[in-house]
Amino acid sequence: MAKQGKLYVVGFGPGDFKHITTRAVEALQESDFIIGYKTYVELIQDLITNEKTIISTGMTEEVSRAQEAVRQAETGKIVAVISSGDSGVYGMAGLVYEVLIEKGWTEATGVPIEIIPGISAINSCASLLGAPIMHDSCTISLSDHLTPWNLIAKRIEAAAMADFVIALYNPRSGRRTRQIVEAQRILLQYRSPDTPVGLVKSAYRDRQQITITNLSEMLENDIGMLTTVIIGNSSTFLYDNKMITPRGYQRKYTLHADKQTLKPHQRLKEEAEPWAMDQKTGVQRIQSSVAVVEKVPKVESIKTELPKVNSYEMALEALRRVTGKQPETTTTQYIHQDFEEIFELAVSPGVANKKFTPEQMMTLAMVVGEKGTMEYTPNHQILLKIPTSNPDEITSKLQNVGFLLSPVGDVLTLKACDFCDGEKTGGIPYAEEIQEKLGGMQLPKELTIGFNGCGMACYKAVNEDIGIIYRKGKFDLFLGAKPVGRTAHPGQPVAEGIEPDKIVEVISNIMKEYKENAHPNERLFKYFKRVKNIQGYIYQDIAPKIKIEPAPCGD
Ligand code: SAH
Repeated sequence: MAKQGKLYVVGFGPGDFKHITTRAVEALQESDFIIGYKTYVELIQDLITNEKTIISTGMTEEVSRAQEAVRQAETGKIVAVISSGDSGVYGMAGLVYEVLIEKGWTEATGVPIEIIPGISAINSCASLLGAPIMHDSCTISLSDHLTPWNLIAKRIEAAAMADFVIALYNPRSGRRTRQIVEAQRILLQYRSPDTPVGLVKSAYRDRQQITITNLSEMLENDIGMLTTVIIGNSSTFLYDNKMITPRGYQRKYTLHADKQTLKPHQRLKEEAEPWAMDQKTGVQRIQSSVAVVEKVPKVESIKTELPKVNSYEMALEALRRVTGKQPETTTTQYIHQDFEEIFELAVSPGVANKKFTPEQMMTLAMVVGEKGTMEYTPNHQILLKIPTSNPDEITSKLQNVGFLLSPVGDVLTLKACDFCDGEKTGGIPYAEEIQEKLGGMQLPKELTIGFNGCGMACYKAVNEDIGIIYRKGKFDLFLGAKPVGRTAHPGQPVAEGIEPDKIVEVISNIMKEYKENAHPNERLFKYFKRVKNIQGYIYQDIAPKIKIEPAPCGD
């Protein structure tokens, strides 16, 4: 019986031997024939130890390569057809199947075939850039030899619109130079000009080159046949020259901090995922907001004579023709796509003021609307959670009616008494100054400063992380209370009679030290207990002598 032939279609990865799979090497060793594009055959030549026939052909002879492979396999030879990267991604796998199908091949009756996967350029290039394809991504080849350009353009636009990370394969060759220009123009209609873009040329090969740029400047760099262009999505960011796409969209934001990731215990909670599909109704709980047109700096690098599809550009062109002059404009527009997120902030009528006006209450109700929530907190604040894509609109409405706005989370909160309705006004300016300077400061752990206007300390300042009590024109200072838990205790009196002109500086220095030196999540009392000395104030051990079992929340 004639020897049974076999077809291997092998993806050998980006180009160096360390990134070829063991199965791919086995197949190459086992084969009688290796068929591939000249450059690729040269790349893997050193791996092939035993005698075999190597058929290398030109770039455009893919069909004849596939036909030759099938022919040889049918005569009983073991044949490997090689592709760089993965053979099923713009490689030879599909073509080999097409040739087989034309000949009536079936798995049961035809030659055996094994497709051996390899690391495709999107993966090898991404690994060199950081982690740009963490979220939904797609590959688009800009080669319009076998695909009509208008279909490619449509795919670029769809991917841009849907906020995919995009890997552009075959971005430019000697003859095809305009496609990448047009691709950039389409992308700029949906994505910010400063969207991170990574260019990787010859990944894991001798002349490897890695460039991090952005959407508006990418064409100023060398892009060729051996480059893969990776375009970030709307959340991709740069860190230390690495391109990173977060795993999901940020689901929460608050005042003063652009974006905040969810803490582990907040993940997967229904209220943290307002955009998820409701499992009972099958409907998305909130809709992504409508696209907003934003003004952005003009992008000089787009010069194209291709037809303008953007009405703004058409208007500019009309103006140019009518006046005979370049219109004076410094802006172009792109469709900025906003995804609704939960805006969290806390409001109060003031540092010492505890009285709400009817106008404030009405404004609160209006901005919170039906979708948001209001929650009264022990810090004399109302905590707001409002799904929105426009937090600025909310903050300006609240500020216009005199609310004091504060961020939430691991920040500094000042909780002052009402100074007996302002009669004992002596301390108020200092409380306000501390709020002004330090309110909302990001810290290793949430921290409350209790500020009381007289020695009665009826707002229980000594039970807060820091207690400040105004007494006879000077300040007493308490540090390191444990505000919650069954082992809660007040702060230690660490100083008496601090001069008013010193108090803000004293508190600023304590906060600076704590911020710089405490471990993440370490409350002030723990830090104080650990270091024993904060800014010269000495810790005294006042822990209870009996052991009390810790009881987690809810138990
Ligand atoms: N089958 C291959 C893709 C072949 S199409 C794969 O899965 O990777 C050819 C395109 O792939 C090139 O134009 C380039 O965009 C990309 N490419 C292939 N190898 C690359 C490498 N080592 N570095 C960068 N890009 C590469």
